[in-house]
Amino acid sequence: MPVSDPELMKIVEARILNKKVCRRCGALNPPTATRCRRCRSTNLRFKKKQVAMKK
Ligand SMILES: [Zn+2]
Repeated sequence: MPVSDPELMKIVEARILNKKVCRRCGALNPPTATRCRRCRSTNLRFKKKQVAMKK
């Protein structure tokens, strides 16, 4: 998703990246979660994907 506005970019980044993804089932969890809400796995990682920015 290309975003051109730098201010909007910060909001988008905070919203998209502030999540944990389960390595087992791929479910999205809140950043405060210690285990997956779907499969109860503790194997969670933070999203590291960069948001595409228009030049
Ligand atoms: Zn899971």
